Amino acid sequence: MLFFLASLIILIFSHSVNGKDSDLPPLKIHPLPLSLQNWISDNQEDYFSQIEPHLAGYLIWSNFPVKVYLQSPDTNLSPAGLTEFEQWQKAVTMAITVWNPYLPLIEVDSPEKADILIYRRYPEFKAEINPKTGLYNLPRAKAATTTVKFYVTETNPPQLRHRMTIEVNPHQTFDYLVTNITHELGHALGIWGHSLNETDIMYYSHTKQIPTISPQDINTLKKIYQQPTRLGWQQ
Ligand SMILES: [Zn+2]
Repeated sequence: MLFFLASLIILIFSHSVNGKDSDLPPLKIHPLPLSLQNWISDNQEDYFSQIEPHLAGYLIWSNFPVKVYLQSPDTNLSPAGLTEFEQWQKAVTMAITVWNPYLPLIEVDSPEKADILIYRRYPEFKAEINPKTGLYNLPRAKAATTTVKFYVTETNPPQLRHRMTIEVNPHQTFDYLVTNITHELGHALGIWGHSLNETDIMYYSHTKQIPTISPQDINTLKKIYQQPTRLGWQQ
């Protein structure tokens, strides 16, 4: 069965991002994280041309380890429900583990402290009215989505930062869960686009074969982290 992976959603909350360029921190390049400096492969290919830049620049992290919050189970879950939840948590932990050698990640216990939040729920969609028919266009069911929001820190001087939210449809087999969450984490880490090669984890669609992180994925990630961004800089 084929069903498309996540859509990428950008929500702009801060009007300094919405406003004139002069309100924003300048575009600058952060030092390349050591973990990516150390990445060397015989394979030189990448799909950097597929990555979408944003008004805020490339959507990259500059404070490591990146803090990840996993939703915790409701206290009223049945034993069967709890087992399912634990499988989901296991899938998330596996996805974090496979990215960790390339960009350091750490689990945190509260959403307020997190850079990336991962929730086990149906991805939320806005149904849109088709102006010609007056009927709602319902989006197709998706496995997962990643959403980015921007904010300005209350530090002095303030910094422009971002936060990523991943929502994962719980009704998938374990292997698909691991693949989908790994794919979404790739978006959350800055790969804001898709590969056209089905052996890459960031391929835009499900395939029969379950992909893992490839050299092309990491070459692309490394190139992204050498690009300028307004994120993590002072206004
Ligand atoms: Zn995707």
